[in-house]
Amino acid sequence: MHDFELHAPDSIHEAVEILAEHGGSTRVLAGGTALTTMVKQSLVRPDHIVSLHRVPGWSHVARLGPEINIGMLATHRAIETSPLIREHAPLLADTYAQVATVRIRSMATVGGGIAHGDPAQDPLPTLLALNARVRLLSATGERQVPVGDLFRDFFDTDIGPDELLIEVQVPAQPHDLEGVYLKFLPRSEDDYATVGVAALARVERGRFQEARVALGAVGPVPLRATAVEQALQGRKADAATVRKAAELVGDLVDPVDDARGSADYKRDMAVVFTRRALEQVAGIPR
Ligand SMILES: Cc1cc2nc3c(=O)[nH]c(=O)nc-3n(C[C@H](O)[C@H](O)[C@H](O)COP(=O)(O)OP(=O)(O)OC[C@H]3O[C@@H](n4cnc5c(N)ncnc54)[C@H](O)[C@@H]3O)c2cc1C
Repeated sequence: MHDFELHAPDSIHEAVEILAEHGGSTRVLAGGTALTTMVKQSLVRPDHIVSLHRVPGWSHVARLGPEINIGMLATHRAIETSPLIREHAPLLADTYAQVATVRIRSMATVGGGIAHGDPAQDPLPTLLALNARVRLLSATGERQVPVGDLFRDFFDTDIGPDELLIEVQVPAQPHDLEGVYLKFLPRSEDDYATVGVAALARVERGRFQEARVALGAVGPVPLRATAVEQALQGRKADAATVRKAAELVGDLVDPVDDARGSADYKRDMAVVFTRRALEQVAGIPR
């Protein structure tokens, strides 16, 4: 294993100073569920690791106005069990509850999960569909980026080597917007998704007033299926409309062959699970 210098700053400001000094040869350590494996397997070879374990705070879950603010160090388990999240963004709680096992969820942080940039991670489609944003802090200032603009490629994000993802801001889920996250798991309960679909819909007088769809594990980045959303807008909420709209997903996704299935199989399953998710949120019997 590659040698590295371990830093344990006492504040986020100290952390970003270290990142500014050492830049590209540095990695942040949050829950460590991904980074420790990547370092052990020499998939990444940082010269410096900035551990956040001494940074106080930044695990908050709070509602300030129309948004829910989640500190980078909140664990997946904290989101799953938060009464505030259950009330104001139930889809988020349901999604984080489907990540791996309770042991992983008790360690993995919200910030680490997003910064990791693995397109197969469950929370990403849901954060996309909820129009979440992240706050990125560096020694020179702060910027906010919509989650939809954050991912560039497999494990590659717009987060600079000198930046720390400090908070996620999630607009509260309106009470009349039904949501579901479906994780297709043909192997074992604690596996990554073969296909993951987040869907939200508001149906009034039998028509889609709003529909949102996002998918994970079907390409280099999680994606928002805007073509599907547009195909549903204002249309009758019935099985035929949903089937036709879901079929558009086949042209949007770009999956790879791997142990979880062939690209063709995943493309087919992306269509099937998009249809099922939309039927569920629109209350259409199967
Ligand atoms: C066996 C196993 C199964 C899993 N299954 C699933 C699954 O089914 N679904 C799922 O969604 N997830 C799953 N996960 C979890 C997921 O893949 C990541 O391991 C986890 O979300 C990373 O969170 P962490 O806090 O441990 O990050 P770390 O491992 O500490 O860091 C991950 C990456 O993010 C960077 N980073 C961390 N925090 C920050 C920050 N605040 N700002 C900038 N960069 C940062 C690190 O430098 C590193 O590159 C699984 C993990 C394991 C080990």
